[in-house]
Amino acid sequence: MMKRTSTNARRHFLKTTVAGLAGVTLLPHTVEGTTKKSNKVIYRTLGRTGIRLPIVSMGAMKDAAMIKAGLAKGVLHFDTAHSYQKGKNETMLGEVLKGQDLSKLFTVTKIVPEDMDRQTGLIGDGFTADKFLEMLDISLERLQMKSVDLLYVHALSTKQAVQHPEVMKAAREAKAQGKCKYLGVSTHKNEPEVIRAAIEAGLYDVVLTAYNFKQDHIEAIKAAITEGAAKGIGFVAMKTMAGGFLDKDKTQAVNTKAALKWALQNENICTSIPSVATIDQLEESWSVMEKLKLTKEEEQDLSFARDYAGLYCNACNQCAGQCRQNLPIPEIMRSYMYTYGYREMGKAKELLATMDVVNDPCSDCSNCQVSCVKNFAVSEKVKAVSRLVDVPDDFIS
Ligand code: SF4
Ligand code: SF4
Repeated sequence: MMKRTSTNARRHFLKTTVAGLAGVTLLPHTVEGTTKKSNKVIYRTLGRTGIRLPIVSMGAMKDAAMIKAGLAKGVLHFDTAHSYQKGKNETMLGEVLKGQDLSKLFTVTKIVPEDMDRQTGLIGDGFTADKFLEMLDISLERLQMKSVDLLYVHALSTKQAVQHPEVMKAAREAKAQGKCKYLGVSTHKNEPEVIRAAIEAGLYDVVLTAYNFKQDHIEAIKAAITEGAAKGIGFVAMKTMAGGFLDKDKTQAVNTKAALKWALQNENICTSIPSVATIDQLEESWSVMEKLKLTKEEEQDLSFARDYAGLYCNACNQCAGQCRQNLPIPEIMRSYMYTYGYREMGKAKELLATMDVVNDPCSDCSNCQVSCVKNFAVSEKVKAVSRLVDVPDDFIS
């Protein structure tokens, strides 16, 4: 047997750690297979933009092969963000799309305002419109585009952030400079407040919101969406799969097709950006358009999954302030879901980095004080996902 050098031993350790984190194949990640001929396609209008999109779009977190497969299938909208994979995601998407007729696609990117506290959702005095616009220029360069159709101010959770004068100034300026046609906000937390703040601001055309069958506050989100749609706001749904699995070991999968269909029952949702990592997942997502109505079996599957804590943190914030070390628990739980549910470890690591989470922050704290309404074993999950911060990027897909 080959003896391991210390470098080899470290690589072996890291590979084991990463594999343990999500039970996934390591890089390089390739996609094999071809898409089937397109089936029935349902289009909806994105609010006052008037843009018509298939109700199934996709995240661009995987690789070029998946984007090409999506294009072949008929996907017109690929979701990305300035921060994803430290910019490599925009660069990869730009490379794939550069030969395409962009007038037939719907291009977007998302930018998190600098100096936003992820825990409180408040934007500090350090935020400037100029900095935001500099980030947009970098995004456009990576995407090899002069402008995007839609620019989101990303990951907002408070009215203060949505209506922050400097944020609104940056958004207006981006549009005035011709760097985007439409403006939007995205939200994973406190969605009703964010949606209503976006309506009130009168500036934003689109809201990208977490929207799934497991959210405890789904009726409040639906009500806000109805109000927004009546005012011409277009809605895009994310986190439709609610974590993808009900357990960390992946023995119980969410019926993801049913979950996506569930989200799309709301006709005010124009399109969705399900996490799509394989051709099979692309086929499954696209196939919801053949028969959008939920079958009895699918309803039963969702009903079972609804009662199961699973991997999805509602971001209900009811555990706010309970952690002795003031850790941002909902965001760490979201990283956990990205890692163990969606297998998006790069996204999870980036999110942890924005909050300066260290490896095993609970090590000096016995007797966890955080009580989760879903009975999540919070400290165990924090420990499990925080290991990611010490894994080098090239080991992470
Ligand atoms: S164990 Fe971790 S999550 Fe729980 S209170 Fe302590 S630091 Fe916070
Ligand atoms: S960890 Fe539990 S209590 Fe805290 S935000 Fe998530 S679901 Fe709510």
